[in-house]
Amino acid sequence: MILIAAAMMGLIGLVFALFLVTANARFAVEVDPRIAELEERLPGVNCGGCGYASCAAYAEAVARNGEKIDLCVVGGDDTTRDVAHVMGVKVSDEQKDKLVAVVFCQGDSEASAFPGVYKGIPDCAAAIYSQDVAKRCKYGCVGLGSCVESCPFDAIHMSATGIPYVDAEKCTACGNCVIACPRDLIELHPLKHDAFVYCKSLDPGPIARKVCKKACIACNICVKAAAADDNPDAVSVRDNLARVNTRNYSAKPEYGAKCPTQCYNSNRNLVNKEAAMTRIAAQRRARAAAVEA
Ligand code: SF4
Ligand code: SF4
Ligand code: SF4
Repeated sequence: MILIAAAMMGLIGLVFALFLVTANARFAVEVDPRIAELEERLPGVNCGGCGYASCAAYAEAVARNGEKIDLCVVGGDDTTRDVAHVMGVKVSDEQKDKLVAVVFCQGDSEASAFPGVYKGIPDCAAAIYSQDVAKRCKYGCVGLGSCVESCPFDAIHMSATGIPYVDAEKCTACGNCVIACPRDLIELHPLKHDAFVYCKSLDPGPIARKVCKKACIACNICVKAAAADDNPDAVSVRDNLARVNTRNYSAKPEYGAKCPTQCYNSNRNLVNKEAAMTRIAAQRRARAAAVEA
């Protein structure tokens, strides 16, 4: 009797074991080994700057869906190169460009008309919502530093005259300040590009100038300078505002030489650009040397 019971138990165990082995073989999810490798190479800070909830989610998107390899803003160049290595692809010149935040307003306390003093909550969106902004330009920087508060890398600060400026050495292009600015004054652009129109006013020239000495007045002088340089696509005026073409970044600083309000210029609102570029160049030389060795 005992022998029969033991045999039955053994048989049932055998059937279950066979079932589990078959199910495992049939329903197994194939794990791409590159995902773990990518995860190892990503910084692991889960900042969300790549647009994914975590480094692991980004690693999976790269390996499974062919997501871009250069989205890790914290890891920068080095991580892009590592990710490219794991994926067996090359890093393009475009992917090697370091991006930084650029603040498109120069309407500080010296340039801007101030009708009063804002005494509400120290937050740019709150000031706009309460229609109690101190400065008169309705497109310009409110100056309450919501972008500064949003930066996890201590890379954006307020100048003594009330306009944020970015430290090129510290900025990782995470984009937090871009999201924080209620007036859409901050964008990410390649560090090496140095000609922009630092204004977003869509007011007609006379009104724009009345509220800010540094406003673009849509005079077209920069557009004509670009055309005279046989580069007509570089700058254009639309809706009372001059804009450099950021698809090809062919605008030169010289096109703003005669800008009457100096809103077209080179790298205002940015510090430590040279230091950042020198460091990046040194890193690239070191990597190239390592590859050759
Ligand atoms: S919050 Fe803005 S300034 Fe700070 S690191 Fe991110 S992109 Fe750069
Ligand atoms: S750039 Fe935008 S977020 Fe920063 S202080 Fe000016 S209005 Fe506020
Ligand atoms: S020259 Fe200056 S003010 Fe005139 S359109 Fe160009 S950026 Fe605007």
